[in-house]
Amino acid sequence: MESGSFDPRQWQLQGKGEAAADKPAGGGSLPEFWQATAAGSPGSPAERSQTTTPSPRGAPSKRLLPYAASLAILAIAAVAAVVQRQTPHEAASQPISKVGSEPMTAAPVRAPGSIERAMSLSSASELAGALTSAGVPGPEASAATAAAAAALNQPGEIHAVLTLSPDGTGMHLQRLQASYADGSGATVDRKDDGTFGANRVAADLTRKIQVIRGELDSESFYSSAVAAGLTDSLVPEFINAFAYDFNLASEVQPGDTFEVAYEQSVNGRGEAVGAPQLLYASLTTRAKSKALYRYVPPGGQPAWYDGNGGSIKRGFMRTPIDGARISSKYGMRFHPVLHYTRLHAGVDFAAPIGTPIYAAADGTVSTASPNKCGGNWVIIDHDKGMQTRYFHLSRYADGLHAGEHVVQGTTIGYVGVTGTCTTGPHLHYETLIKGEHVDPLSIPVDTGTANRLDGAALQGFMRERDRIDVTRAKQAY
Ligand SMILES: [Zn+2]
Repeated sequence: MESGSFDPRQWQLQGKGEAAADKPAGGGSLPEFWQATAAGSPGSPAERSQTTTPSPRGAPSKRLLPYAASLAILAIAAVAAVVQRQTPHEAASQPISKVGSEPMTAAPVRAPGSIERAMSLSSASELAGALTSAGVPGPEASAATAAAAAALNQPGEIHAVLTLSPDGTGMHLQRLQASYADGSGATVDRKDDGTFGANRVAADLTRKIQVIRGELDSESFYSSAVAAGLTDSLVPEFINAFAYDFNLASEVQPGDTFEVAYEQSVNGRGEAVGAPQLLYASLTTRAKSKALYRYVPPGGQPAWYDGNGGSIKRGFMRTPIDGARISSKYGMRFHPVLHYTRLHAGVDFAAPIGTPIYAAADGTVSTASPNKCGGNWVIIDHDKGMQTRYFHLSRYADGLHAGEHVVQGTTIGYVGVTGTCTTGPHLHYETLIKGEHVDPLSIPVDTGTANRLDGAALQGFMRERDRIDVTRAKQAY
């Protein structure tokens, strides 16, 4: 690929390597912001953030952020922060250490001389073993585990805090607080008669919106977005949102600006639970500016809309493939294989083998079988005598067949080098109107107003838009 080419997959590879020095290990799964919120949120004592304990199996323990760093990040949330965070390796090599209180419910009545230990377990089944490793006698560990069992019956990692009282015979368990990532779990207390009683703890998830603003660097949108603090898994969503409005390979320059808002479920410890969801994306170039909101209409699918509730879906996608570089335009040219001058009846998008190819608009597949020159090709018939053709696919999307109805954006196959009329991996893409070839890049895109939301869907959209905008305003510079 030439420099300046646009391929999200390659960028991800490059980006991960380049960003490694600036990014904490394991970055991407837990955005730094949420770690910051954990340590800095009201009611969560900073002192507990300093140390943590490894799991008995050496699994990565929860990484907690030093308080000072969290304040810095909260102050400049839009700036890519260098976050002090333990790597899994470092965490696993630390000895078990004491941490401060973990206020899940009412503060426990702690006997003088008692100590607390926190640990992360890969599942509830490790609880009894972890208790005995902490010095709790076997029968006591079994009894406490049995008391908690009904509330700890899901799979998944568990965060446990033990309150222990040492005496001449060992460690005695006073209290066990065990919770899943969503905050649900159990609190087990020793009763006066020495048995254990458990209370179920409900999930404690809140959804938070985070806003990130940034400027495109000279490398790529990917590296710019990650440098600004965007979780890398959200970058492809951003790119897809703008597939209709921008050719990100040619219309974007260093200095152009972007903004994203995404939502993340956060547990009571401030840790991200589940995947983040992009809610808003805007892009401003020297030539134009576009802001998009994600919305799920009643009974519909999630989609992107402009601020007035107009769908971004167009008659045809400008590019039926993610951000590929145009390697040959429509028009007369010397054919490198056939060796004579002829009309190049489509546009070539150079992209790595395996890059997904999308149906450019809703339509019906009329051909999905190999052709000598075109290789594995697909023809889709659309409204108004329009037809699109996709050549040289390495393979078809699973199950794709003639007669199948596809909606815009459906993956129909993958970039390849099949057929006799190709010299390298690319998509040769043709558009025809009533049987006549036209330049795919010349097809006018309508404004999307035909797909504007109305009625209850529009009302719902405006509420969602306002919810996002209020948060964006609060997180202004
Ligand atoms: Zn071609």
